[in-house]
Amino acid sequence: MSDEHAANPSPKTTAGKARADALQAVLHASGPAHIVRAPGRVNLIGEYTDFNLGFVLPAAIDREIWLAFEAWERPGVELTSVELNETRSFDFDSLAPKARSDTTWIDYVAGTAWAMLEAGLPLRGFRGVLDSTIPLGSGLSSSAALEMASSLALADPRTARPPAARMAAIAQRAENAYVGVNCGIMDQFASAAGRANNALLIDCRSNEATLTPLPTELSIVVCDTSAPRRLGIDYNKRREECELGVSVIAQREPGVKSLRDVDAAMLARNIDRMPEEVGRRCQHVVDENERVMETVVALRDGDLAALGRLFAASHNSLRDLLEVSCPELDLMVEIADTVPGVIASRMTGGGFGGCTVSLVTHGTEEALRETVMRGYTARTGLSPKVYAVAAVDGAGELLRP
Ligand code: ADP
Ligand code: MG
Repeated sequence: MSDEHAANPSPKTTAGKARADALQAVLHASGPAHIVRAPGRVNLIGEYTDFNLGFVLPAAIDREIWLAFEAWERPGVELTSVELNETRSFDFDSLAPKARSDTTWIDYVAGTAWAMLEAGLPLRGFRGVLDSTIPLGSGLSSSAALEMASSLALADPRTARPPAARMAAIAQRAENAYVGVNCGIMDQFASAAGRANNALLIDCRSNEATLTPLPTELSIVVCDTSAPRRLGIDYNKRREECELGVSVIAQREPGVKSLRDVDAAMLARNIDRMPEEVGRRCQHVVDENERVMETVVALRDGDLAALGRLFAASHNSLRDLLEVSCPELDLMVEIADTVPGVIASRMTGGGFGGCTVSLVTHGTEEALRETVMRGYTARTGLSPKVYAVAAVDGAGELLRP
């Protein structure tokens, strides 16, 4: 698994220096450039809970965007994406939220600039080049990494940088209001505030994060189903169903503003007054919040059996109650569970395609990869991808000229 490991070496290593040099060569900088980095993320557990102001447990991973740039006087940005082989630009004085239909990748950057200005943060113009080891659009949050890397490049160095939670909220605002994707705060928060060898327990109501050390005997493996993703309409529908559930409960239960304010007993008292489908969506969210807290305890205690149970319960709930899984995700989990040394597996992210996450004992990564490559491919005809990932630090500066 050596090709997948060390996907983002530090520039102090030979491989990292080669990546930094390659990026700077594309930039054609007149002198040494800045390089900033921002990681993707994988959510261990806590799905569809962030926008319900509940708990999530992501880790920033060693799949990262690197952005090399030189500041210039011009109030604007010119940026090249190596992956897309495309250069785009925008000016700070013409930033305005777009209609959803005509957004492109540069709008994640322009949106970040717009949201920073809106938050009163001064900008710096730059000319830059970015490359990435995060697969685009497969659920590992390349978009949040692009926003967080951009926010570092865009920030006027004469102004103190707000804390990670605040920068994450600004990037979320960019994605919600400028790009038009109605995501919660998890992706940006994980990319901004991750820590090596830790997951982050994020309370999406208070926006506080608590580090959760990962057991040293476990590795994280992400399996990309490569199934076509159909996230948009259904994701927004689930949000509306959760809101409807809250409004029904709030008629009888004073002070309830989100599903975070609802526990199992309260939901049971009210579930008959809502459409059956809405009741199931709410049940998932209420249970999932509890599972996140139980997972934190299981990680702390190294209780591998509990981790397996909790991941399975989360997956089944996402499949049956929330109905956001798909046959490919179900099959991927089923196959992973047959591999000795796989402790826990579930779909991760928004579902309807995308990735699964597995916790495995060290040394199991290769067996899992082989089993998936053989079994999953034979049964679907799709070309899955398997990434062993490590939890890394959140976004930051790599090189300063
Ligand atoms: P995810 O965040 O799960 O990867 P999204 O659909 O939210 O999926 O975000 C993917 C989008 O982010 C891409 O379509 C593109 O617009 C932008 N993006 C991500 N990485 C890059 C990159 N390396 N170069 C240019 N755009 C990128
Ligand atoms: Mg995204």
